[in-house]
Amino acid sequence: MSELDRDQQQTFAREIVDRLRSRGYEAYWAGGCVRDQLLGKQPKDYDVATSATPDQVREVFGKRRTLAIGAAFGVIAVIGSREQGVVEVATFRRDTSYTDGRHPDAVVFSTPEEDAQRRDFTINGLYYDPLAERVIDFVGGVADLKQGIVRAIGDPVARFNEDKLRLLRAVRMAARFGFHLDTATMQAIQAQADTVTSVSPERIGQEMRQMLTIDGRVQALELLVESRLLSAVLPAAVRLIGQPLNHDERKQDAWQFTLEVLSLLPAPTFALSLAALVHLLDDPAAAITSANERWRLSNKEHERARWLAQQATALVDAPQLAWSRVQPLLVHEGIAELLDLHAARAAAANREAEHVAFCRAKLALPQAELDPPPLVTGNDLLQAGFPGGPNFARWLHDLRVAQLDGKLTTREAALAQVAAWHGK
Ligand code: ATP
Ligand code: MG
Repeated sequence: MSELDRDQQQTFAREIVDRLRSRGYEAYWAGGCVRDQLLGKQPKDYDVATSATPDQVREVFGKRRTLAIGAAFGVIAVIGSREQGVVEVATFRRDTSYTDGRHPDAVVFSTPEEDAQRRDFTINGLYYDPLAERVIDFVGGVADLKQGIVRAIGDPVARFNEDKLRLLRAVRMAARFGFHLDTATMQAIQAQADTVTSVSPERIGQEMRQMLTIDGRVQALELLVESRLLSAVLPAAVRLIGQPLNHDERKQDAWQFTLEVLSLLPAPTFALSLAALVHLLDDPAAAITSANERWRLSNKEHERARWLAQQATALVDAPQLAWSRVQPLLVHEGIAELLDLHAARAAAANREAEHVAFCRAKLALPQAELDPPPLVTGNDLLQAGFPGGPNFARWLHDLRVAQLDGKLTTREAALAQVAAWHGK
């Protein structure tokens, strides 16, 4: 099966501009793809802005190759081959008045200049003409890209008032590119930070998921603190700031140590980053529950983060622990993440990570040795005539422990053991 091809994707986006132009419309690449291109990064996807109305766009490319995905906002998806992907073509527009802090009340088709003005940050407000190979900049975005500044377009207070999601987008964009936040933009965020809770948990979660998994995750967290957004999106985490660490010669607080751990995690999943973020709190599980309410995690993310935070120190003595304590963790689905967390914690504390090496060596064992089948199953016990009941699960558990620790090695011995327990 073939996949998206970077060159074909770009060529397709250029052809779309070409087609619209040849039909007499104005058309450019717009927004994030222009920014990424100027930064020398491969854009994830291409967006085109045009003077053609949605109906005209569909007429140019044909109903079969287009989808009216955001018709209300004037957005039409033009579908290419699997290698070309999809390009979103949006009519130049102006947004008029936001009453809910999230959606414009009406959309009016407009000029490229006004379309640039309604975008969030100057670095996101650029156009590119791929035929003339020329940048079109109505908002000073090129200078801000060069200087590495995230700056709201227009009056920052008004722009964040219109749409509270921009509060988080500002931090995410800065962290993603290692940029600064312009002073007035930062001040406007600080003044409105507590109102970010009017954004839906799903949208907050989408932003946090990205912020915690990008290379710039430490900068994202530092900016969340400086902008006062952290107390709005995850108040529990703020308690780490100034919280003393046990046995630390360098007089780091729990927050600094946490950031160090986060920086040392190699390409962490969201669940792992979240677990690392809260693992030093007195009640990490409560903080994860709070994150779930505020960010709407998936069940999988929620469970995984909770497990990782709970087990954050479980393996430090692995070489000395009974195998029956270690093995269940090693065969858990989350073990790769857990070992990354243990390794990062050890490195952040300048300690050796022998326990991690020990666990990794065990993981390399053949499956039959690492996770041998149980000596007996529940069915075996029933067939051997033991009554089902409340003891059953405990017997099976205790048999497994004895098996893993080498105290029971055969099925007969296991059945004899149950008979002995049952007889009591
Ligand atoms: P990414 O690479 O993360 O997709 P992006 O800049 O393309 O970055 P999108 O969310 O895909 O981000 O949005 C595309 C463009 O739409 C942005 O570059 C920006 O110009 C505009 N935009 C997106 N969200 C907002 C918003 N909340 N307010 C104003 N403009 C926005
Ligand atoms: Mg995008």
